[in-house]
Amino acid sequence: ELLINQIAAGEVIERPAAALKELLENSLDAGATDITVQLDNGGIKLLRIRDNGRGIVRDELALALMRHATSKIASLDDLQSVESMGFRGEALASMAAVAQLTLSSRTAHDTHGWMVEAIDGRISEAAPASHPPGTTIELRELYFNTPARRKFLKSEATEFAHCEEAFKRIALSRPDVGFSLQHNGRTVWQLNPGLRIEDRGLRGEDDGGWMQNAALKRVAALLGAEFGNAAVPVSGSAANLTLHGLAALPAYSRGNRDAQYFFVNGRFVRDKVASHALRQAYQDILHHQRHPAFVLFLELPAEQVDVNVHPAKSEVRFREGQGIHQFIFHTLQQALAAPAL
Ligand code: ADP
Ligand code: MG
Repeated sequence: ELLINQIAAGEVIERPAAALKELLENSLDAGATDITVQLDNGGIKLLRIRDNGRGIVRDELALALMRHATSKIASLDDLQSVESMGFRGEALASMAAVAQLTLSSRTAHDTHGWMVEAIDGRISEAAPASHPPGTTIELRELYFNTPARRKFLKSEATEFAHCEEAFKRIALSRPDVGFSLQHNGRTVWQLNPGLRIEDRGLRGEDDGGWMQNAALKRVAALLGAEFGNAAVPVSGSAANLTLHGLAALPAYSRGNRDAQYFFVNGRFVRDKVASHALRQAYQDILHHQRHPAFVLFLELPAEQVDVNVHPAKSEVRFREGQGIHQFIFHTLQQALAAPAL
């Protein structure tokens, strides 16, 4: 069992950033509105995440660390339309196999918290712990027991950069949630929560002004005011598709290559269909822009997109790729052409 977990872990948890992504998604799935991440040495030595989500009851703590112990799939049908971020039930088990893991949690009904530890893959009995409502997960010495994998890790600075990128992607997608990120005791990001998404019409309905408050502030905080100043608003809908966000004009030249954020139903993805449509629109209107910068959110019914292609690699497959391509292309074309009017 431990060996199976270690092999699986290598695929799911390639590096600290992959663990961080899974942990952040779990916290969001648990309804957290405030999430704190602390890393030491690029996340290799220590990766700690604390949230104020609904927590885990004592009897389910150890279970959460076991393979396929997801609380998120009630039936096979759910696999077809996965609304929550996590759905595979192996992230925590994988982490427990390759790091010393401590899971502490308290639900709103508990008078105190409980914690379990996974040491060398063995899960301890639950013990009382002092903890506010919510959950803390601590990983120490990632890959201590899989030297081959550890050898593949890059420098601490590189691993931290990957962690920071994973953090940014998630923070961009949820401006209604407060996030902070510390590295080696230094606060790198402190992001206050904006208005809740439900109140802004960010998802689904097109109110045109969706970006004016929380999301715009979050983009400006993470990408800098120069991005916001050089970007045009993108907003379009057709049938049951909507596309919202900001697309930078060529004036924005700072590290363009990195500033490509495309989200499908709130999840960061890399998608060939979308990238191609975006590049084509930039080329069509602005003639040449090698590395366009954008933050765009595509929303569509869950059954029209398959997120199960490779969850760890952030890939999706659209059922109607051609229609999506056209919709993205036309919406962006309109947005980029607007300033010329
Ligand atoms: P998955 O997210 O795919 O269900 P994970 O291994 O990531 O699988 O998590 C296992 C289970 O542990 C989750 O289904 C959830 O019930 C619980 N869990 C994990 N993280 C948290 C958290 N931060 N708050 C509350 N419950 C959590
Ligand atoms: Mg998960």
